[in-house]
Amino acid sequence: MQKFAQETSKDEALEVLRTTSNDLITFYLHISCPCAFPRFRFLVGFEGSQYTNSLLHTFESNVLVSTALDYDPAFLIQEETNETLFSCRICKTQYTYIYDQYSINFELTRLVSKESKALQEGAAVEFPFPLFAGLYITDGSRSEDDIQKDWKMLEEKFPQVPLREFIHYMKVRT
Ligand SMILES: [Zn+2]
Repeated sequence: MQKFAQETSKDEALEVLRTTSNDLITFYLHISCPCAFPRFRFLVGFEGSQYTNSLLHTFESNVLVSTALDYDPAFLIQEETNETLFSCRICKTQYTYIYDQYSINFELTRLVSKESKALQEGAAVEFPFPLFAGLYITDGSRSEDDIQKDWKMLEEKFPQVPLREFIHYMKVRT
């Protein structure tokens, strides 16, 4: 079973997220760097296994990770000795890049950060953590009822909200 929040306009939502992610990174870099924002680090390093036994990820995470890696001028610099290790050009915080493809529709990309070396500028992570495009979950080995139960709890923890509310949450300062 595979479940997406916002099934109907997924492609449209992803397109909007690409622009939004680029704007967010520009905003962070204007202040210091994305590493100074705990909500950015949380989303790019999203650990679905903390919330459910099924595979869980967010559209925001995938898009934010690819935007961060492709951002021009680059702020994440690949280490010469290890191609999955990146460090921030500005504060030197290190990130490990993780990519898992489970199916055509289920891809997880993450940038898991070590402790941030940047002076904190953004507000701490708080729940509910609002998302614009939202979560996706899959697991062939669990019953639909079990996944449905998790989904209910997850939608409360990560509610889908209008775009401007997501952007506001991501930009709030300390
Ligand atoms: Zn940094």
